[in-house]
Amino acid sequence: MKRALHWFRRDLRLHDNTALRQAVDAAGKVIPVYVISDWKGEHRWTGPNRQEFLCRSLAELAGRIEQAGGKLIFRQGNAVRELALLAKETKAEAVYFNRDPDPFGREVEEELARVGETQGFAVVACKDACLHERNEVLTGSAEPYRVFTPYSRAWAKLPKDKPVAKVTRIRTPSGIRSEPRPTLETWRIKIDAEILPAGEEAARKRMTAFITSGLASYGAVRDRLDLGGTSRLSQDLRYGLISIRELFERCREKMETLPKEQRDNASKYVGELIWREFYQQILWHFPEVLEDSFNPRFRGMRWTDDPRAFERWCAGETGFPVVDAGMRQLAQTGFMHNRARMITAMFLTKDLHIDWREGESYFMRQLTDGDIASNNGGWQWSAGTGADAAPYFRIQNPWTQSARFDPDAVYIKQWVPELRDVPAEKLHAAPAPGLRISRNYPAPMVDHATERERALEMFAKYRDATATR
Ligand SMILES: Cc1cc2nc3c(=O)[nH]c(=O)nc-3n(C[C@H](O)[C@H](O)[C@H](O)COP(=O)(O)OP(=O)(O)OC[C@H]3O[C@@H](n4cnc5c(N)ncnc54)[C@H](O)[C@@H]3O)c2cc1C
Repeated sequence: MKRALHWFRRDLRLHDNTALRQAVDAAGKVIPVYVISDWKGEHRWTGPNRQEFLCRSLAELAGRIEQAGGKLIFRQGNAVRELALLAKETKAEAVYFNRDPDPFGREVEEELARVGETQGFAVVACKDACLHERNEVLTGSAEPYRVFTPYSRAWAKLPKDKPVAKVTRIRTPSGIRSEPRPTLETWRIKIDAEILPAGEEAARKRMTAFITSGLASYGAVRDRLDLGGTSRLSQDLRYGLISIRELFERCREKMETLPKEQRDNASKYVGELIWREFYQQILWHFPEVLEDSFNPRFRGMRWTDDPRAFERWCAGETGFPVVDAGMRQLAQTGFMHNRARMITAMFLTKDLHIDWREGESYFMRQLTDGDIASNNGGWQWSAGTGADAAPYFRIQNPWTQSARFDPDAVYIKQWVPELRDVPAEKLHAAPAPGLRISRNYPAPMVDHATERERALEMFAKYRDATATR
C-alpha cells in the first residue's frame, strides 16, 4: 500500500501503538492525523483540565513525530467527515486507528466503516486501550460478567498480547494542509488547576518510577491518603501515553523478582488494572448505565434536589474535613486520591442524598483522568446502585474513614490549610451539635448518623417498591 492515515485518538504515543505500528508496516507513507472536536466551553463529559492535558500531550506528540521524520496533521470538526476528506485529498487507501472503549467512540467507528466502504478506503480498527475488550471475557454461558471477582479470575487466565516495537520512522507526504495545533484558546477556555506534566515522555518517567519504587509496596499503602503510594498513571492510561500491554508486562517482569509479600502488594496493582477493564466491558455491554442505575432495582429512584448543598460539596465547604480535602484537591489539581473519591462520592449520595449523576458529571469536568467507564463505575459503586458488591447499606463514615486512612491528618491539612493548627484527633470526630472544629471552618452541614438512617430508609423503600412491580 502506498499511503495510509493513522487517526490518533486515545493513543498519543509512538511506543507500543498497535494501529500506528500496523499502518507504518503496511504503507510506504503514513499521514498521522488528530481531529480536534468542535466542542466549545461546557460539556457533560470533559472540562478544561482534560483539554489542557490533551493539548500538551498533542504538542509533545507532534514533536516526536517530527523527530521520526513525519508530520502530525490537525483537522477540526466532525471526525468521520474530516477523515474521509483527508483520505480523498491524500489518496490514502486505508485509515488505521485504535478502538475507543466508550459508546460515543463506537458510533463514530461504525460510521467511518460505512463511509470507507462507499468511498473506497479500508478501515483498520485495532484493540489497544485494554488487554481484553468487548466479548473476550464472558461467563461459561457466554454472558457478560456483572460481578468483579469472577470477571477478574477469567480475565487473569487469558493469554496477554505482548507489546509491539516502537515506531521510529514515519514518512509523511509533504504539502498536506493542517489546522494549527490546538490550545485552550481553540475552545476559549482556561484552567486554574496545576496538572501533572503531560506527554509520552513524562508518562513513561512516571511508569518507570512507579515500577522501580512503588509497585512492591502498592497493596500496603494504596488506601492511605497521606502517603501518595499510588502510581498516578490514570491520565496516562486515559490518553494512551503509555500502553496497557507494556505496563502489564513490566509489572509482570518486576513481580517475578519480588519476595512473596511484595508480590502480593504488586498483584493488588494488577487487580486495579482489571477493574479498569471490568468497567470498560460493563459500559460496552450495558451502555444504559450512563443514563440510569446498573442495578434495575434502583432505576428511577428520586434523589434530593438541593443546588446549594451541591455547591458546598463542589467547593469543599461541607464542614467534613476529609470530604473538603478531597474536593479541594480535585479543584486545585484535577486529581483526587481513590479513597477520597469513594468518601466524597458516598457523602454526596448517602449524606446529602444527591443524585450520583450530578457528581459523576462534576468529576468528569474536573478530572484530568476523567474516563467515562471508570468514573461511571466508581460513582455507581459508591452510590450502591452499580455492578458488584458494594450494597447500598454499606455506608462509609467520613469521620472514621479519615482516622483510618489519614491518621495524622496530613492529607486534610495539605488541602484545608485553615485546619493546619488543629490536632489530628479533632479532625476525625464530629464536633458537638452547634459547635465548629475551628472558628474559620464551617460546622458540618449534616449529621452523618441521621443522614445514614435516611439513606437506608430511602434505598430500602425503593427496593421494596420495585420488587413488587
Ligand atoms: C467516584 C469515583 C470516580 C472515579 N473516576 C475515575 C475516572 O474518571 N478515571 C479513572 O481512571 N479512574 C477513576 N476512578 C478510579 C480511581 O479512583 C482512579 O483510577 C485512581 O485514583 C487513579 O489514580 P492512580 O493512577 O494513582 O491509581 P492506582 O491506584 O495507581 O491504580 C492504577 C490504575 O488502575 C486503574 N484503576 C485504579 N482504581 C480503579 C477503579 N476503582 N476503577 C477503574 N480503574 C481503576 C487506573 O487506570 C489507575 O491508573 C474513580 C473512582 C471513584 C470511586
